[in-house]
Amino acid sequence: MERPSCPRCRTRLEYRMEAEIGDGSRRVIRYYYRCPRCGYRIYDSVIVVKKNGSKTILELTEPIYAVARRIAIH
Ligand SMILES: [Zn+2]
Repeated sequence: MERPSCPRCRTRLEYRMEAEIGDGSRRVIRYYYRCPRCGYRIYDSVIVVKKNGSKTILELTEPIYAVARRIAIH
């Protein structure tokens, strides 16, 4: 897939990932495109990793689908 460009300054966006370290039972991993020139961000998928005893639960949120669901509800 071709990388999108920044809607503000037309620079090619970088694809990046950041992991937020929580209290050990919950961890959030975000994938996003970032503009190296002006810092503009577009979030892609967000993965929430939860630990429940010996079980690991993964929750995947894709913003496009979240928006689509919100539209469907209202
Ligand atoms: Zn930019």
